[in-house]
Amino acid sequence: MEVLVTEEQIARRVNELGDDITRFYEGKPLTVVILMNGALLFGADLVRAIRQPLRWDTFICSSYHNDRSSGELAIRCDLKNPVKERHVLIVDDILDTGLTLKAVKENMEQRGALSVRTCVLLNKNIDGKLFMSPDWTGFDISDRYVVGYGLDSNEEFRNLPYIAARE
Ligand code: 5GP
Repeated sequence: MEVLVTEEQIARRVNELGDDITRFYEGKPLTVVILMNGALLFGADLVRAIRQPLRWDTFICSSYHNDRSSGELAIRCDLKNPVKERHVLIVDDILDTGLTLKAVKENMEQRGALSVRTCVLLNKNIDGKLFMSPDWTGFDISDRYVVGYGLDSNEEFRNLPYIAARE
């Protein structure tokens, strides 16, 4: 395994993101929606770096596309609380095509959220030419399969405290 992002780099960047996000939402009703399972650790660290009152919730889904549709969402475990009249920040592990995040964003908008923004730990889709670009990004990375800090390969490696790629 080649370490791409160390534990220290993650901690520093999460704090920077927390500061930016705190300034952005100051005084507003905020719900952080953590996409499981990949964003569990990132989301848990990020909410502690946001220095203002907030609610968090978790969401388990998958998106799929076929000839007639793109970004259809299959919800496996829905939010516990409504997001109507709240600002929503969706937190995800990694953005590749952006299809999943785009579908989740539209779903949150349909629930009457005041605004819906996105924060991803890793962005592979650096030029944003596919489905969407995130509002906040931890790190831009090259197009390699990565694991660790929540990201898996066949459900393993999620507990690594750093981000790594196979050599
Ligand atoms: P998208 O909808 O943006 O194409 O795909 C995003 C999802 O694909 C991520 O939430 C993640 O589950 C999975 N994914 C994409 N690239 C990687 C990767 O390099 N490593 C891991 N573990 N999952 C990935």
